[in-house]
Amino acid sequence: MTRQKRIILEELRKVTSHPTADAIYEMVRKRIPRISLGTVYRNLEVLSRQGEIQKLNIDSERVRFDGNPSEHCHIRCVVCGRVDDFPVEPTVSLKELNSECGYEILGNKLEFYGKCPECRKTKPSYSQLTKIKEGSIMIDKEGKKVLEALSGFEKPASGKEIAQAAGMDSKIVISKIKTLKSKGLVESPVRCKYCVTPTGRETLS
Ligand SMILES: [Zn+2]
Ligand SMILES: [Zn+2]
Repeated sequence: MTRQKRIILEELRKVTSHPTADAIYEMVRKRIPRISLGTVYRNLEVLSRQGEIQKLNIDSERVRFDGNPSEHCHIRCVVCGRVDDFPVEPTVSLKELNSECGYEILGNKLEFYGKCPECRKTKPSYSQLTKIKEGSIMIDKEGKKVLEALSGFEKPASGKEIAQAAGMDSKIVISKIKTLKSKGLVESPVRCKYCVTPTGRETLS
């Protein structure tokens, strides 16, 4: 193993924060000041191919790395993005699953999300509240109001009906619905009538 690769591995194994390549670069630079970000990237790729480390895709915005190559679950904080190890035992046996789905199952990936201890202490800001679980679907105050009003209807509702329920101007409601539709939170099963998608419901919960 080259010295660079060894130091990258050593630095990564010192932490349990599942850092990004950029963060690892900052750590390694303290020991090898002239190393380039590209070299760090390349070595991380090689190390993960060799099974020395793990490449994590738990964060939709950036790849993270784990110095612990053994199989384990992770939990990500939806507020600050922190990723921690999560100790959990699968409750269903793989053998059982094999016969059920017809596949030969070779492995699985179980990911959790939540609010970390630090973020639970601080009251989240509005924008953090509306940042939903899986990705980063942001909706503003008015968008949320429209979504809430719409979720009160049992059948698909028109823009006018939603405006009345939300107590908002119908022009604003229509523009908000457009945005919500583009984010997959609202759908239009009938022309000019709208309802909340499952993702939209999740956003509200
Ligand atoms: Zn957090
Ligand atoms: Zn881990």
